[in-house]
Amino acid sequence: MIEQSILEITSHLSRANKIVIVPHKGPDGDAIGSSLGLYHFLKDKGHKVKVIAPNDFPNFLKWLPGTGDIIIYENNREISDSLIDEAEIIFTLDFNLLDRTGEMEAPLRAAEATFIMIDHHPEPSDYADHTYSDATMSSTCQMVFKFIHKLRATQYITPEIATCLYTGIMTDTGSFRYRSTSSDTHMVIAELIKKGADNTLIHQNIYDTFTPNRLQLLGVALQNLKVNKEFRTAYITLSQEELDRHNFQKGDTEGFVNYGLALEGIVFAVIFIEHKVEGLIKMSLRSKGNFSVNEFARAHFNGGGHLNAAGGKSFLSLPDTVTKFSLVLEEYREELSI
Ligand code: 5GP
Ligand code: MN
Repeated sequence: MIEQSILEITSHLSRANKIVIVPHKGPDGDAIGSSLGLYHFLKDKGHKVKVIAPNDFPNFLKWLPGTGDIIIYENNREISDSLIDEAEIIFTLDFNLLDRTGEMEAPLRAAEATFIMIDHHPEPSDYADHTYSDATMSSTCQMVFKFIHKLRATQYITPEIATCLYTGIMTDTGSFRYRSTSSDTHMVIAELIKKGADNTLIHQNIYDTFTPNRLQLLGVALQNLKVNKEFRTAYITLSQEELDRHNFQKGDTEGFVNYGLALEGIVFAVIFIEHKVEGLIKMSLRSKGNFSVNEFARAHFNGGGHLNAAGGKSFLSLPDTVTKFSLVLEEYREELSI
């Protein structure tokens, strides 16, 4: 983000009162963490700020400070539409395409506010007036810290802000393991701990929250794991019936896809999850090394994301989706087979 932009944003911020912050649909730890981190920062500065999420977010994030103030668009359309309409500044966090907000896309397109994008996904689209995009960053939370730093305001980072930002960096880096984790990520993390983020507690609050049902659902997922050694690929399926049997709650399957990558020699892992009500199969894709799941998901499964972590969807049945996946895999023989 160039200095001129920061000067303009600083001057906008000094004039604007009403601010809306929008994370992507199906918000994860980074989307919610960055939105709430920025929310506390701007609210503490005296702005009228609202976080509007397109839909609900997992229970394991609900302890984060400020989650009670988040408006869920799906359940509060009228009030959300008027807040978007009246906003002077709209921050969009953790996504690169406006259609990642689902049904919020239309009201956002119609809004007259100044748009500021803060995001770490590759290939940002150009809907924002100010685009702070950096695909080398581990997370949008790391970028929100940088953004506050650029505003020369790190002295205003409270323990609440530090907790929110720490959480998103931790979840988007798989607890500081993925390739996106840099020395800069660790510097930011060190600052956040200094500012009051309780790293042990955050880790416990996010990861040690399994219910017996969720742990047993993981058991089913692992039973369903299929390995294609030739293509160094592993995949998991979960049918609606299996989810129902374990009283599935939003967020319960978070992280399951990573078990495929824990197998020695596997570089590509996918989980297919059936959503009967929405009439689609949701996919999470993960890779190690240079195999781009972003390109794979964009090309074949209506999705995208990052080099090593992406999402997608299919409108075929669960078995037909898996068949399609196996056929598509053939096109990647050169990249994937040993
Ligand atoms: P997850 O598998 O955890 O849902 O998503 C992994 C990554 O891919 C996240 O960074 C997420 O933002 C991104 N992602 C998930 N689904 C989609 C999608 O449908 N389109 C795009 N462009 N990115 C996605
Ligand atoms: Mn992210």
